[in-house]
Amino acid sequence: MKLICIGRNYTDHIKELENEKPAEPVVFLKPDTSILLKKQPFFIPDFSDDVHHEVEVLVKINKVGKYIDKKFAHKYYDEIGLGIDFTARDLQSQLKAKGLPWEKAKAFDGAAVVGKWLPKTKFQNINNINFSLKKNDEVVQKGNTELMLWKIDELIEYVSKYFTLKIGDIIFTGTPAGVGKVFVDDQLKGYLEDEEMFSIKIK
Ligand code: ZN
Repeated sequence: MKLICIGRNYTDHIKELENEKPAEPVVFLKPDTSILLKKQPFFIPDFSDDVHHEVEVLVKINKVGKYIDKKFAHKYYDEIGLGIDFTARDLQSQLKAKGLPWEKAKAFDGAAVVGKWLPKTKFQNINNINFSLKKNDEVVQKGNTELMLWKIDELIEYVSKYFTLKIGDIIFTGTPAGVGKVFVDDQLKGYLEDEEMFSIKIK
């Protein structure tokens, strides 16, 4: 399986990193080895001094598809989740400055937190879900899927032009503002509406 990640999908986060608003979604992949194992802490890798949390709504693909029209995209997922796209921001900035790929900063072991899954039927409207991240019990990131530049069904249409979607693939839909550095002993907890979706200790 693969993790398909979207960058720059919330205006407030684009401003915070002083990026330009893209004309098309920014897409990158993480391998399955980047998924943080259940109940394990996240270890800050030795090649970075500036690992950031990016909380993101996740979509799990339930059917094989290619060139999926956004009208039919809702048939390709039943579950919504929440995760973290951990990013070695120092390394990413160096790679970006050189025009090089981001993978070392985004796809390393443990860089993808995948929390629990909820049936999408739990939500009245997929495009109006509140989510948040607490660091040591303080809210540091807050978003609503309504604020995505490209909504979930549009993202499925877009990424399936390039990649065949397979059962179990996960889409990371981008992060809102409030990304920040993690420190040893931090505790990160993610919420979809009021439901706790993951709890991660930083080591
Ligand atoms: Zn991200």
